[in-house]
Formats: sequence, structure tokens, C-alpha cells
Amino acid sequence: MKALVYQGSNDVRVENVPEPTLQQDDDIVLRVTSTAICGSDLHLYRGSMPATEPGDIFGHEFMGIVEEAGSAVTSVKKGDRVVVPFVIACGSCFFCQHSLYAACETTNPNEGAALNKKSIPAPAALFGFSHMYGGIPGGQAEYVRVPNANAGPYAIPDGLDDEQVLFMSDILPTGYQAVLNAGVKTGSSLAIFGAGPVGLMSAACARMEGAEQIIMIDNQQYRLDFAKKAYGVETLNFDQVEDVAEAIIQLSEGRRGVDAVIDAVGYEAKGHGGKMPAMNNFEVESSDIALHQCLAAVRRGGSISIPGVYAGAVNGFLIGDFFDKGLTMKGGQTHVHDYLPTLMEAIDQGRLKPEAIISHRMKLDQAAEGYRMFDAKEDDCRKIVLTP
Ligand code: NAD
Ligand code: ZN
Ligand code: ZN
Repeated sequence: MKALVYQGSNDVRVENVPEPTLQQDDDIVLRVTSTAICGSDLHLYRGSMPATEPGDIFGHEFMGIVEEAGSAVTSVKKGDRVVVPFVIACGSCFFCQHSLYAACETTNPNEGAALNKKSIPAPAALFGFSHMYGGIPGGQAEYVRVPNANAGPYAIPDGLDDEQVLFMSDILPTGYQAVLNAGVKTGSSLAIFGAGPVGLMSAACARMEGAEQIIMIDNQQYRLDFAKKAYGVETLNFDQVEDVAEAIIQLSEGRRGVDAVIDAVGYEAKGHGGKMPAMNNFEVESSDIALHQCLAAVRRGGSISIPGVYAGAVNGFLIGDFFDKGLTMKGGQTHVHDYLPTLMEAIDQGRLKPEAIISHRMKLDQAAEGYRMFDAKEDDCRKIVLTP
């Protein structure tokens, strides 16, 4: 079968690889009908995610038809059409029982991966996302093996087409969780850093939850223009303002700062050139990290929500400001499974139209070109859907 395979930094190719087979009784093999390229795939593509090896198959946003089901699979059967969460969870361990599916302690054999080398279990395995996250082959392929199939795959009603529901695999629940973590409610004001797919899904979900003022920050004007049109947000192009946090404060009611901020950028942020409104005379490093601006732009008692991926340490984080403002901060991988019924209902009722952000449709064969374009933000690229 054909699959998108990593060769090395900025080098992915569609190649012929062996078809996956059932390995456990509760596996299914899925025939992929649609798959997408995620901003998280770009960390892998750029070679900036550890434990990514030549030969790895990428792809964690996908859906399709059950081709084969193991003997212990009871929740779906051959021929069912399902969307698959990018997080692989068992559904029954301590964390899964607490609806913390991304912390499932049974699916990733690594120990304490990415943590400070303490002996706690690693977080859940993810599809196509490095050996740190379990080394499970991804779904940018004609077929994919889905482990723990009684917990993950979510059946889709016939009336909805692939594009309407595909993003339930990742970016839609990620935007939704970001909004819940930000404590957004009717009347809230919110700044969203990053107008990529995750930022856009956050804007859509924030509108659904009744946010009144949404300010989006990016330097890709075409993405900001889209967000303005689709979600009625105010926009700030960080190449055109001297100090982003200050600009947000000026736009906020009473110049207090916004109720909440979402960092939908993460560790691969591009420079703002904005000044850090530092309280103390710290030498602040990595001032381009959006998190610094989030901290500066949020009002006292507000919330910082971080769906953007971080790794390691960020120098110069003003913990003193965090304390002084009495903030709440929450982040992490998305507990996808927990949100699917709510999001399915919202799509079904037309309250969410995630497919609106798709800008490019390509065949799986063209996936390498898709990665290049999405990374370069060429041709006003917002989101690419691939079909095998
Ligand atoms: P993307 O790369 O398409 O979008 C990121 C956007 O941020 C781009 O438009 C870029 O121009 C903008 N940007 C860069 N630096 C900035 C800065 N300093 N300030 C403001 N904007 C800036 O990716 P995406 O698909 O939208 O994903 C965004 C992040 O969310 C990535 O880190 C991705 O790995 C992460 N993610 C996390 C989860 C999760 O479970 N938590 C799920 C999906 C994606
Ligand atoms: Zn993703
Ligand atoms: Zn579990």
C-alpha cells in the first residue's frame, strides 16, 4: 500500500510499504478515506521532534471504513465508518476513568517520556508521532492499524460527509479543549495566538461558547483575514504592531487585559519583535515565544490555555507575573474521546462547520507537496485534506 514516509528533515515521500495486519484481538484495520496534515506534523517534518526515525509513517488525523476487526472488538464492525482520535487510549485505566485520555497509562511503553526522568508512566501513545509517543504507524496511508479499537473509533452517521467530521480526530476537540481550559463563557474576551488550524478551531468553539470579543494574532495576513470573515474576530498582525501584548491590552475593556488567552502556536513560534513588559529587569530569552505575550496580555485572575506544543524549558517565563496576576494555566494533549459526542451534536445541528477552514484537497500521492506548501504557507494554505 501507499503511505507517507519520513526520510529525514524536510524530506517525506509517498512509498510502497507492507499493509498493516491485526496484532491484538482488539485491533481493527481501517481503510482510510480521508486524512489531513496537522501543524503537529510540521514539528516532525522539520526534524524538531526527537525520536522520529526514517521509515516512520506520519498521520494522526484520519477516518475511514473498518476493513477488518479483531475477535475482541465489540464496539465497531467491518464496514462501519469511523473517525479515529489521534490519542490512543484504553478507556479503562486510572486516567481514562477520569476522562484524561491523553494520559492513558497503558498504550505507550516508554517510561516517563518527555518528562523529567521520574518513574511515572509515559502519556498515551499517538498515531504517527515519533517513538517518544509509542512509534505507532500513522494514517496518512491507504490502511492503518488502530489499536484499542473498543475505546477510540467513533461511528459517523451516514448523512455527514468526511470533510464535516474529519477534524473530530484532532484539531476540533483541540480547539474545544483550549476554549474550555481558557474558561470561556458568554461575554468572555479572549486573545488567540496563532491563526493556524488550531487557532481557527479555537475561534469557532469560542464563538459557540458565547465569547464576545476575540482577538487573533499572527503574521500570516491571509489567515487573519479568513478568521475575521469566518468568525468575526479582531486581528493583530505581529509584523505590524510594535508590542503585541500592549496592543491587546489597548483593545481590552478597561485596559485590564483580556479574560483569557490561548497559545495555539507552541515552541516553534516566530519572532514578534514585541517588547516584553517585564516587571523586573530580567534578561528575557526566547522573547518570540507566544507564551510570554499571553502572560502579558491576560488580565488579573484570568486564564492561559496552551494547546500549542511545548517541549523542554522556556527561559524567562515571568513566574512572578503569573503569581502577581493570580492566573490559571492549563495545557497538554487533547483528551479527544471525551468531547466527541458534544462536538458531533454541534456539527449535526450546524453550530460548528469545521470544514470551512479547508483550503486544499489533494491525493495522498501529492502528500509531500502538501507538506511543503503547508509548511511554507504557500498559496494561502490553511488546511490540507488528502484522499488515498
Ligand atoms: P500551524 O503551524 O499551521 O499554525 C501556527 C500558526 O502560528 C501559524 O499561522 C503561524 O504563522 C503562527 N505563529 C507563529 N509564531 C507566532 C507568534 N509568535 N505569535 C502568533 N502566531 C504565531 O499549526 P496548527 O495546526 O494550527 O497547530 C498549532 C499548534 O498546536 C502546534 O504547536 C501543534 O503542534 C499544536 N497542536 C496541539 C494539539 C494538542 O493536542 N494539544 C493538537 C493539535 C495541534
Ligand atoms: Zn494534530
Ligand atoms: Zn487508559
